[in-house]
Amino acid sequence: MSQLAPGLATCPGCGATESCTLFSSIDADTIPVQVEAILEGTFEQRTCPACGAGYRPEHPMLFVSHARRLWIVMHPMADRREFASLELAVAGEIAAELARAAPIVAERSRGIRPRLVFGQHMLTEAVRSAWSGVDAALLECAKLLNFRRNVQPLMAWGPSEFAFAAFADNGAAICEVRALPGGARLGEIRLPNDILAEVQAIRAELRTRFPELFERAYVSATRYLVGDAL
Ligand SMILES: [Zn+2]
Repeated sequence: MSQLAPGLATCPGCGATESCTLFSSIDADTIPVQVEAILEGTFEQRTCPACGAGYRPEHPMLFVSHARRLWIVMHPMADRREFASLELAVAGEIAAELARAAPIVAERSRGIRPRLVFGQHMLTEAVRSAWSGVDAALLECAKLLNFRRNVQPLMAWGPSEFAFAAFADNGAAICEVRALPGGARLGEIRLPNDILAEVQAIRAELRTRFPELFERAYVSATRYLVGDAL
């Protein structure tokens, strides 16, 4: 069930804060309007009364779709440094949820791999990729391979991460370039089709090289490229 709770919105532009109501959980199977807003990148969008900037408040939230076997825990970008302990907590939470759920609900949830994301835009990425049928671990492997082959041009963006947006007509994956640690949108890149095909072909090898992407909740190339340095 989707739930709302009193919260605090902090403008990333000027730092002004406002009391407001924010979602603490989203049951994606029953609240399509909010899912659409997440996909469009407008979820909880508000305007700062002090400086007029538009922004999405950073806060913890659980996004669940039993129909799509998704369990995504969103944390504020500022919590990224704690990813190692947070992903352990996420694994514990889903285990506890299964243990207390009625058997018929537990059956629906069994085998779900929980995800941990930092920032509203990375929740948008996780939901967009799930809705597009993308294998999250392989997408992150493709980002890593692409980065290694294009270090110079990609380094020119400065500290950043890539957020899947959509597939182009030629099959390339269009990704937003998002600044680290603040999340500002810097531009976009394309993960070429051949890299996407390559990661699919060498999946078993990649699973050995990057086991965290296939077994842990923080399914993100950023854990290798940046780690807990932010
Ligand atoms: Zn402001």
